[in-house]
Amino acid sequence: MVFRGDEIVKAKVERVGAHCPEQAYITVSKSCVMGCKFCLLPRMSPQRRTIPEIIDIIEKASDIKAISLTSGVLNSPEEEIENMCNVIKAVTNYGLPIGVSVYPVEGCSTKLKKAGASEVKYDVQTMNRKIYRRMCPKSSLEERLEGLNEGVEVFGKGNVSSNIIIGLGEKDEEVICWIEELCEMGVVPILRTLQGKVAEGKRPSPERLIYLTSELKDALSRHDLDPTKAKTMCLACGGCDLVPFLDL
Ligand code: SF4
Repeated sequence: MVFRGDEIVKAKVERVGAHCPEQAYITVSKSCVMGCKFCLLPRMSPQRRTIPEIIDIIEKASDIKAISLTSGVLNSPEEEIENMCNVIKAVTNYGLPIGVSVYPVEGCSTKLKKAGASEVKYDVQTMNRKIYRRMCPKSSLEERLEGLNEGVEVFGKGNVSSNIIIGLGEKDEEVICWIEELCEMGVVPILRTLQGKVAEGKRPSPERLIYLTSELKDALSRHDLDPTKAKTMCLACGGCDLVPFLDL
């Protein structure tokens, strides 16, 4: 990249597998009944990719090292997990690490692991109870946190990650406490910038994101967690978020 005649950055543009470099990152159910206000999926008409459609995307992707599967909730969280397990079983023959991001329910980590998943991401979104109730009125923060605890028991420390959305009206001090709480559990937090517009929401400044990411980096070091070891999903891609030890 050249700025006013000087080369300021030298980089190689990576090839996209499917959605991101080196991965086939696929949304299974592309709609959601949970109705979180900052999310696009509740605004989509009910739809789910079939297993042949998913296999077709994987077959067309080039040079992939992982398969990542994410999903909204088409009917119910329990039914979504059953469907996800069937999808995972249908793609284990590629011999690639499989990452899965779903809304968690009791026992889902054991089922996902048995089906063939190697890493999971269960997003807390926000841990401010008041903001959570307003933004995610049809789901439970406690259920998400229990899912994360169970996720670490089943997949092991560092193999479970969770998005915290930055920009919903939370304070920096709160975010730093949540980072500590998640790291203490063995979960790798991901600081995800609010996309688009929601009432009371505000996209964070670059300075705020860099500050919070440096706090995240400290916490990860103290808890011996390394996001660069992730093989699937957002931490392995790094396209949307600042990944500590990689970007900062
Ligand atoms: S549960 Fe996830 S996919 Fe569903 S509305 Fe909330 S953020 Fe979107």
